[in-house]
Amino acid sequence: MKVRIFDTTLRDGEQTPGVALTPEQKLAIAQKLDELGVDAIEAGFPIISEGERKAVKEIAHAGLRAEICGLARTEKKDIDAAVDAGLKYIHTFIATSDIHLRYKLNLTREQALAKAVEAVEYAKSRGLQVEFSAEDATRTDREFLKKVFSAVTEAGTDRIDIPDTVGYSTPQYIAAITKDTINATHLPVSVHCHNDFGLAVANAISGIQAGAQCAHVTINGIGERAGNASLEEFVMALQCLQFDDKFETNINTKLLYDTSRYVSKIVGIQVQPNKAIVGENAFGHESGIHTHGVLSNPLTYEPISPELVGRTRWFQVGKHAGAHGIAAMLEEYGIQPSKEQTHEILEQVKKLGDQGKHVTDVELLSITGEVMHQEGLRRLVHLTGFSVSTGMGNMPYAFVKLNIEGKDFIGTDYGVGPVDASINAIQKITGEIAKVRIKEYKLDSISGGSEALCEVTIKVEDAYGNQSSAKSIGEDIVITSVQAMLDGINRIMLKKILKQKNLGH
Ligand code: MN
Repeated sequence: MKVRIFDTTLRDGEQTPGVALTPEQKLAIAQKLDELGVDAIEAGFPIISEGERKAVKEIAHAGLRAEICGLARTEKKDIDAAVDAGLKYIHTFIATSDIHLRYKLNLTREQALAKAVEAVEYAKSRGLQVEFSAEDATRTDREFLKKVFSAVTEAGTDRIDIPDTVGYSTPQYIAAITKDTINATHLPVSVHCHNDFGLAVANAISGIQAGAQCAHVTINGIGERAGNASLEEFVMALQCLQFDDKFETNINTKLLYDTSRYVSKIVGIQVQPNKAIVGENAFGHESGIHTHGVLSNPLTYEPISPELVGRTRWFQVGKHAGAHGIAAMLEEYGIQPSKEQTHEILEQVKKLGDQGKHVTDVELLSITGEVMHQEGLRRLVHLTGFSVSTGMGNMPYAFVKLNIEGKDFIGTDYGVGPVDASINAIQKITGEIAKVRIKEYKLDSISGGSEALCEVTIKVEDAYGNQSSAKSIGEDIVITSVQAMLDGINRIMLKKILKQKNLGH
């Protein structure tokens, strides 16, 4: 069965506390969602502001493949605002639970039902496609909910949505009311699940198994309070887990990770590291037992291949590491220690781990260098020219000249400070060649005083999800940052080149 993906990142997702997007940002996200393959995009809530109307209008006229929808209360002015924004499809809602009726709307059940019917009739008279939501459906009296859904069906609604507004449902209950709704209306049904008890995706899947055709979801599960059902988890679970029916969606799953990072960056909300599918650690391995298993067959400790969602697996060294994992990580940099050397490296890594130290590939490479008495990594990137100007009243400006594998490149850019300007100038060059971007930047001062040593740690990532960290210590914050950045880029390019070579075999 084909499951319809209704994405509400731009409406419920934007209602995440602290998130506000400009019309340009909303349009950019809508285009990204369209590429991802969502079937419908809830672009916003047109009545709320001038900017919101503008954003919805632009999205509605952007020529996207997805159907564009907007939210409206059961008020004429809301529905008119949606029409003015160029929408042909609205999601209209009114609360139906006693707690909302009494304390929020101050309406009786009968009054709410009448408003729902009027709104659907009015929207249909304006030529709109209508999806009707009974807000707080899962805390609404079950018989009354059926009555409301039947009444709006008679009034001409095209779709019904069941919102679990405060994430209060269990998978069993949402399945039961989904069946009620289908029997009462014979219309296409959607479920809109919130994650207050961590059950949003489970509830959405349960709704689908009970016969719903569509789920409202958001990228990274953002949304009010604990958020909504996350698109990436929902889609991958439907596609990969065992069900009696076979479920499919129109999502191009290879774009999931990229879309997740894109949205995270624009809305300014980091994805938790242990989040399924798109979290930093979702395809990372440290334990020796796991690493060994994954190296011999990834299916041992990975339910799906990371490439399926546009990612790459990675290994972390640490006290749980084993010889196989260490050898595999070094192989990525083209280093092949002997068996004895590998064991010595492993011993030292474990020692650091026992001291509670986080072992990045920086430490691993430095230990390896000592054990193997070698000079370190091959250098692909050389800094051949660098200057930065900074002061009061003018923006810091940097000039960077790099030699990458024998070719010269020049980059210049501004920044909020000299470090930012320098890194921007470097990224201008390497962004094009290696598509490398900074993931983390950390600055520590090692000793006091203005002549203090500083330590810069940088984590970089390329477009294929390869990551590398680098650390540099020096007296000048700007130069030390530039060195760390270039080390990181060098490592990531080295990894990529070696990978391509291996694939060529
Ligand atoms: Mn919601």
